Amino acid sequence: MEIIPVKTGRAYEVTVGHGCADAFYDQLAARHRGKRAAIVTDETVDGLYGEAVRRALEGRGIPCCKFAFPGGEPHKRMETALEICEFLHREGITRSDFLVALGGGIPGDVTGFCAAVYLRGVEYVQIPTTLLAQIDSSVGGKTAVNIDGGKNLVGCFWQPSAVLCDTAFFDTLPEETFADGVGEAIKYGAIRDAQLFEQMRGDFRRNLLPIVARCIAIKAAVVEADERDTGERMVLNFGHTLGHAIEKHSGFAVTHGKAVAIGMQMMADACAQNGLCAPEVPAAIRDCLERNGLAWRYDAPLEGLLAIAAGDKKRDGTSISPVLIRAIGRCEPVSMEWGAFAQFMAAGGSRA
Ligand code: NAD
Ligand code: ZN
Repeated sequence: MEIIPVKTGRAYEVTVGHGCADAFYDQLAARHRGKRAAIVTDETVDGLYGEAVRRALEGRGIPCCKFAFPGGEPHKRMETALEICEFLHREGITRSDFLVALGGGIPGDVTGFCAAVYLRGVEYVQIPTTLLAQIDSSVGGKTAVNIDGGKNLVGCFWQPSAVLCDTAFFDTLPEETFADGVGEAIKYGAIRDAQLFEQMRGDFRRNLLPIVARCIAIKAAVVEADERDTGERMVLNFGHTLGHAIEKHSGFAVTHGKAVAIGMQMMADACAQNGLCAPEVPAAIRDCLERNGLAWRYDAPLEGLLAIAAGDKKRDGTSISPVLIRAIGRCEPVSMEWGAFAQFMAAGGSRA
């Protein structure tokens, strides 16, 4: 078991391990004596783990209530947040109680949002159960719901007070959902840590625990340096400009982490073609993606993807902040005019 501190405005710890849940609950119970917990989750995760988490907390003297909503992006909405807040009120949850976000990034983001706004802010702990949620969404305090205009357009920064990353939750995770997390994990190696990247070119599953812990440590460091996402945190968007466009172009058939994987490859190809990194860099990314069973190219004309990306960014003006890769473990966000970015990308070649 490893404890990773996150030194943001409100400091907290991430407990990482395989089968470390009981130790986490013991600590939680000691810290939250006399409080009540409201567990918020989606229906799938509720069926798998909802009652176990409730029993674990109640067995340690923390009375619980539980709310489960249908999973999926269409339910990551204000209406769901409102239902949760009404539920919290009916249950008599006060500012001295706390919420438990149990599940993937969707319950995590919605519960975090409710914690931020219910009674102008209550504590919450994250118990992420997907790989993506453990290495990405549960740490950093970004909460959000979707609106018709786009994903994550309403939300705020509200840090959790503790995070449990128990890799035993992955025992029930569908392979496809795990693969999305692998795409984001490779991103952490690519942006900050060549050694981690090499580890992921080996046997990912066998090295799962050190990989998860290292990804969380990188996320924590980036968030500490830029809690409000005004500079350094942008590096986490490596592969995301084209990735988001691929997700949309495919009608979301290509899911987020897999789309980001292809977006990283396209960006690395373009960087190599523009002389910003050695050709070994895109070759290494392609090798790492292949070894992990992830696609590295997407069959669509670049112009179409750029048009979608431009549409996404329209309201930000004429420039864009792509994240360039200079070496494995070294990425940097830059600012570019749209025309220059399109030319830059056209030099790459990892489309079909
Ligand atoms: P998710 O919450 O929808 O989970 C994916 C699926 O896996 C769901 O069907 C869920 O029911 C199921 N599931 C979860 N844990 C399981 C388990 N242990 N066993 C079996 N099934 C399980 O989505 P996600 O992929 O975890 O997260 C995606 C969301 O995270 C997006 O909405 C994205 O915007 C958000 N996100 C937020 C941040 C942030 O910083 N806040 C960062 C990245 C992504
Ligand atoms: Zn992402």
